[in-house]
Amino acid sequence: MNGDIELLLKLQNIDYDLGELERSKEYVPDMMDNLRKEIVDTEGKLVSLGEQVTQAKLEQKDIELEEASRQEKFKELQQRMMNIKTNKEYDALISEIDQIKERLTELETRGLELLEIIEISEKELEAVTEKASSIRKVNEEQISNLQSQIDSVGTKIKEKSTERDDIAGQVGKRAKAVYERIKRGKSGAAVVAVKKRACGSCFKSLPPQRIQEIKLGGSIITCDSCGRMLVWLDISND
Ligand SMILES: [Zn+2]
Repeated sequence: MNGDIELLLKLQNIDYDLGELERSKEYVPDMMDNLRKEIVDTEGKLVSLGEQVTQAKLEQKDIELEEASRQEKFKELQQRMMNIKTNKEYDALISEIDQIKERLTELETRGLELLEIIEISEKELEAVTEKASSIRKVNEEQISNLQSQIDSVGTKIKEKSTERDDIAGQVGKRAKAVYERIKRGKSGAAVVAVKKRACGSCFKSLPPQRIQEIKLGGSIITCDSCGRMLVWLDISND
């Protein structure tokens, strides 16, 4: 049977859908922004890792060049060592050789560091490249789905509103007024199903006589405790 209470239940479902559609106008663009941001962030990471590798390889080249020229200088000084005439000359040469040795050690240490940096960055670059392409694919697909959702929200609201007007036109004036009043005054549902012989919203248990009246349907019966309208649905009382 389609008494007022059953119609109000339908109306409430439509109002819920309408609310969701309105809310989607806010949260769908936010979701799209987050998906876009994730793509941009991952690609930014890709660029910075790429730069890191390039930079390290450039420094590696510089080190190789400097190492080669220092090695040459080192040999030259060793040659000069053969023709030393004074102690003073000897001391100066030794100090110069020591400096070169020290620098060569520094270069070698930095060279090893760079090898490690390059190895780690290239591995990470490979992983992020793979991740970035899957993020781009998945996110772009989601963005396009969300875009269609936004594009169709106006039509859906129109359809639901027409459906709402149709049902609202069949509900009695008094019942409709009660529904609107509860809806304005309370958060959550205005029409609630009986669950386990109690109000489905505030869980206040209902006397058997009450339940019989609600089961009969058609008339407006409200919960003594929370004031919401009660409806009997077989599905929630199996
Ligand atoms: Zn209640």
